[in-house]
Amino acid sequence: MSRSPRALAVVALGAAAGLLVSAAAPAGADAVRFTPGAPGAGDPYFPDMGNGGYDVAHYDIALRYDPKTKAIQAVTTVTARATQDLSRFDLDFQGPLKISSLTVDGHPASYKRTGTQELVITPRKGLREHRRFQVRAVYSGVPQTINDPALGVSGWIPTADGGIMLNQPIGAATVYPVNDHPTDKATYSFTLTAPKDLTTLANGDLTGRRTSGGLTTTRWEARNPMASELAMVAFGKYDVVNGRTKGGVPNLTATDHAMGISAADAKKFNEQTAQVVDFEAGIYGRYPFTSTGGVTVKAGVGYALETQGRPVYDLGRHPGAIPSGDLLAHELGHQWFGDAVSPQRWADIWLNEGFATYSEWLYYEKFTGKPVQDSFNADYATPASDDLWKGKVADPGRDHIFDGLVYDRGAMAIHVLRTTIGDKAFYKLLKAWPTSHRYGNASTKEFVAFAEKISHKNLDDWATKWLYSEGKPAL
Ligand SMILES: [Zn+2]
Repeated sequence: MSRSPRALAVVALGAAAGLLVSAAAPAGADAVRFTPGAPGAGDPYFPDMGNGGYDVAHYDIALRYDPKTKAIQAVTTVTARATQDLSRFDLDFQGPLKISSLTVDGHPASYKRTGTQELVITPRKGLREHRRFQVRAVYSGVPQTINDPALGVSGWIPTADGGIMLNQPIGAATVYPVNDHPTDKATYSFTLTAPKDLTTLANGDLTGRRTSGGLTTTRWEARNPMASELAMVAFGKYDVVNGRTKGGVPNLTATDHAMGISAADAKKFNEQTAQVVDFEAGIYGRYPFTSTGGVTVKAGVGYALETQGRPVYDLGRHPGAIPSGDLLAHELGHQWFGDAVSPQRWADIWLNEGFATYSEWLYYEKFTGKPVQDSFNADYATPASDDLWKGKVADPGRDHIFDGLVYDRGAMAIHVLRTTIGDKAFYKLLKAWPTSHRYGNASTKEFVAFAEKISHKNLDDWATKWLYSEGKPAL
């Protein structure tokens, strides 16, 4: 996400739901003990997010948007594999969407919705460990917009002509039933239907389009594993530009009519996206996904987000504007840092935002001539008494994951690491880290160990001062 200030929010999220009491396993013929999957993924910042007991492989999400009622009609099929003998399991699903049918492997399953976001599903029979199963949910309504007092607006966001789904960190469950934690990545298919005068957009590659009865349906395939916080769909009036980067990556950009962007600037947005992708691929290694691009939208959220393969830029306060080069560098830098390799826990988000901010510094050096060292010096000049130095970079606290300590101190930590290990090891690290963890997750501890291995240096002192301690470190 970009550092633009997030809108103030009014609605608090509900308190964490208590653990569900485990029922005794039914006495099956084979005496297997089936137990409930955990209602959370174990992330201390968001105890309700994600679930245990299974691993999602694929989401197939079909959404039909009706501009008259602002509602969606949806069918989502979740294909997963049990990681324990499951008596029941949870998906995350939040807000007023009403479920009309829910099946597991084609059989009606009983379900109830508890707490803020738990959809508790009990299949007809227990699911043995390793077994593949499919949950199909049919539902409809106007999805919820989340207004978190500390983290801003996410989830389904209505726009002038439609809506857009922006999930970081906890929005996905407002639109589809999901195992909503970055550690359970999956591939996605989107089938999006709307009146033919609207454009529909999603992550991944556009693989089909048909129009009948006044409705247009597009099909999108996101073939690379993706965290739910990075999934995106949009309905509205957009101009689309298709291109390809010089490095050969298909590049689809879209500009919201409500932004009043000229055709020339829409083309420039596409070209600059291509330029930055290729620049960053030169430093970070091969671009990790099957396509790239971006979407500018007037959504009133006041931030840009690194939605996978196709970042979204809300520049609603700047009519006619396209994203600046440094903003492109930030969100596209995330494609390697945050998207291809995602944090193990939300406490590790400096691994996203520190590198995305460092991507801006590298961009300035290449395209404006401002040395990276000058960017560091400007931030480091912040007085020791400033709030910037409060809190720990690698454990900022749930309400501070989008704060300056994560972004600016994260980038400063990376620059000090560079001066500690030298440019040769540093540039090797910039390529090797996202490449070796591509489509997976990693923790701060793993990053430090990885940097030590590459540089043959003990980095305890650096990590203690720059990641794990409060206060302004001496140089
Ligand atoms: Zn960011």
